[in-house]
This record gives sequence, C-alpha cells and structure tokens, in this order.
Amino acid sequence: MSYYHIWTIGCQMNKADSECICVGLDQMGFRCARRLDDADVVVLNSCVVRQSAEDRVTHKLDSLCSLGKDKVLALTGCFVDSDVDELKRRFPRVDIWFAPQDFGAFFDFLKGNGMASRDGDAASISSRPRPSEFVNIIHGCDNFCAYCIVPYRRGRERSRSMNDIVCEVESLAERGAKEVTLLGQNVDSYGHDLPDKPTLAELLAELNRIDGLARIRFLTSHPKDMSDRLIQSMSQLDKVCEHVSLPLQAGDDDILKAMRRGYTVAQYKSLVERMRRAIPEVALSTDVIAGFPGESQRQFQKTYDVLRELRFDTVHIAAYSPRAGTIAARQLADDVSLAEKVRRRKMLEGLQEGIAAEINAGLLGRTVEVLVEGRKKGRWWGRTRSDKLVFFEDEADRFGRLVDVEIKHAGPWSLQGEIEMGYGESI
Ligand code: SAM
Ligand code: SF4
Repeated sequence: MSYYHIWTIGCQMNKADSECICVGLDQMGFRCARRLDDADVVVLNSCVVRQSAEDRVTHKLDSLCSLGKDKVLALTGCFVDSDVDELKRRFPRVDIWFAPQDFGAFFDFLKGNGMASRDGDAASISSRPRPSEFVNIIHGCDNFCAYCIVPYRRGRERSRSMNDIVCEVESLAERGAKEVTLLGQNVDSYGHDLPDKPTLAELLAELNRIDGLARIRFLTSHPKDMSDRLIQSMSQLDKVCEHVSLPLQAGDDDILKAMRRGYTVAQYKSLVERMRRAIPEVALSTDVIAGFPGESQRQFQKTYDVLRELRFDTVHIAAYSPRAGTIAARQLADDVSLAEKVRRRKMLEGLQEGIAAEINAGLLGRTVEVLVEGRKKGRWWGRTRSDKLVFFEDEADRFGRLVDVEIKHAGPWSLQGEIEMGYGESI
C-alpha cells in the first residue's frame, strides 16, 4: 500500500484542486498520510499571488531537498509557469511538475512508474463528501487585472458544461453534502464561452432544484459581470445564500483604471445598493490592495472612506506585491514603500475590525441557522448562510447537520452561541 500527502496553500480553487487529486489517488489505490514523513508521494499545491505566498513555497521546497529518493515529489498550482526547464534546474529534487488542473499528467506519471495499484482517473467527485463542498465551474481568467498573475498561470476562462456541474452536485447531495460553493476566479462570467451560453443565474436555478442540497454559494464575483438578473435570482432562489464576495480592490477611479478593473467607484456603489435593496440581509465580502503603484495618500484615503461607507462584513486586505510578468510589474514603478503599504494595510484592518464587530454584535440574541462542519477544541463549528463562523458546545454528534443556534457572544471574526433545543435540526 502506498501513501500520499498533499500540502496546499492559496485560494479555494487550490483547495478544490487538491480534493480532486485526493480522489484520483484514492481511486488508484493510494491512501492518505497525515504526516508528510509517512508518505510515498508528496504533492505541493502552490500559490504565487503575492511574494509572501511564493516565499512559503520556495521555503517548503528547500526544506524538502533532503527528502528520500524513494519518495515522489510533485509540484502543481500557480508556481508552475511555462518555463518548466528553468524550474527543473532550480529545484532538481522535484520529480514532476504539472500545471493547475492537469491532473492527468500526474496520474499518468504515477502509472508510468508502476506506483498505481488500480487504474484511477482524474476525478472531480469525492467519494465521501464533506457537509460543504467546493465545485469548480469555470477555470482560468480573461481579465488580466494589471497586478494579477492568475491569468498567466491558470489560462483563459473555460466553463464546465451545466450538465456536468448539475450531475456532480446531484451526486454530492445524494451522498450527504448539504452545501456547495461554486468556484471561479470570475464566477459570474460563467457560461459565456459555452455554445448555448448558459448564465450563472440559469445554473443556480437548476441547482436550486436538487433534493437534499440546502445551500448554494458562489465566489469570486467580478463587479463588472454581476448582472441584475443574477441579483434577482439570488433574491428568489431559496437555497442561494445571502452572501456575495465582490472584490473592490480600490476606492479611487484612477487607481481602478490603472488596475484595469473595468468599473468606477460610483458603479460599484450602485451595484452594492441594488444588491442590498434586492437582498436586505446580504453579507458582502471584498478584497482590497493597499499601496498599488502610484497610490497617493489622498487616493488611499478614498479607499478607506469607501470601506467606512459601505460597511462590508469581511475585507481581505493585501499590500501590493509586484508579480513578474504582470502589466503592473512591467509598466508601473512599485513606488509606495513597504513601510507605507503596511501602514495603509493596518489602517484598513483596524477600520474593518471595528465595522465587523459592530455588524456581528447586531446578531446578539438572534437565532441563526448553522451548517456544522467540524469540531475544534471541544466545540462544534459551522457557518451561517451569511458565511459567519459560529462556535457552540453540544454533547450530541452534530457533524453535517443544520442546526439553529442562538448567538450569545459576538466578536469581529466569529460568533458563539447555544444550540436551540427542541427543534435543533432544520433538515
Ligand atoms: N478574481 C478575484 C478578483 O476579481 O478580485 C480575486 C482573485 S485574486 C487571485 C485574490 C486576491 O488577491 C485579489 O482580489 C487581490 O486583492 C489579491 N491580489 C492579487 N494579486 C495581487 C498582488 N499582486 N498584490 C497584492 N494582492 C494581490
Ligand atoms: Fe486576477 Fe483580476 Fe482575474 Fe481576479 S479578475 S483572477 S484579480 S486577473
């Protein structure tokens, strides 16, 4: 019996890809090893969206230099660029490099080396789904935002057929999954590249009919592709959660233009207004970059003001990190000092911490539906439809259940509550 271990960093797409690799390896007769040392096959699923992520990958690779020759070391994810020869020269210990999603190349390599005890295939369906599963619906990105490496590493947009996705979600629901999160770098452009051009709204309507499935989410949405039709679907389809991830990136029009985002601050605000009018309980999360090339103090202040005005539930804030080969790295000087980027990032984090604490305090005393995803330090944890993390204590096995929890304590990052006895489970 051979064992594998997968180390994953980065976005949800990487997590979903790692899950596909696990399923494929399981089918080929491998077993999962908790510890890297116990594995015969080690897979690193990498991210290079910022320098800090790339550094973690290279440190990991350096630490694995002395890995026994009897182990296979594979590397995938966005670290893999088109110049694999150069990567092989830099990291000779790696046995196989494969691009994101190119699982077939990896499985063929293992079969070719006589490591598979059974004939498996690139699979996208987990045999033992978790309560909440990721489902990739569109790969790649066509947008080429000035700062972003993703389109260069994940290629152009490729939507999966609606039939494929519906079959996968039906199968997940039949085997116990209660929630799916549909993934794409630009999930709301789903379908434009398919022959009959289905939309995300149409896909949501199909998935909403699936028995056993209780919740549907999707991320990440690009503001320029978020249609009124999609907002209307969200407001009408009962399984689609009141939660949207809508990256803003900056609160100044000139910076947005330099970033090549394709919308203005006014357009973004109007979108948020329409969304909040149609779905009053909607929770919004966003991404912001601090210290993009040329960002003045005044322009940064505008981003701060937009966050203060729109009051997002969650904000992911990153200091700008130049990525070789991107438009910004080629054409714009990285002229905001690191210290200043960090100062701006911390200012936004401080602001957001206060806003999130206030929003979450509004849930005190309210009963929320929680999908229980696991147990940590003696407490159950799960998420609300609005994607808030909730902890509660209960002796009974609640894994994978939808339960009602009354919120007793609220902080900026999580909530704590008590399970409502009597009508605990709602499905
Ligand atoms: N597709 C999504 C969108 O439209 O924003 C997000 C995908 S991107 C891989 C995730 C986040 O990483 C971005 O929203 C952005 O805030 C951040 N990011 C991407 N490139 C970056 C860079 N060079 N420096 C800092 N942050 C970056
Ligand atoms: Fe990167 Fe922009 Fe594509 Fe998001 S939409 S993955 S930020 S290029």
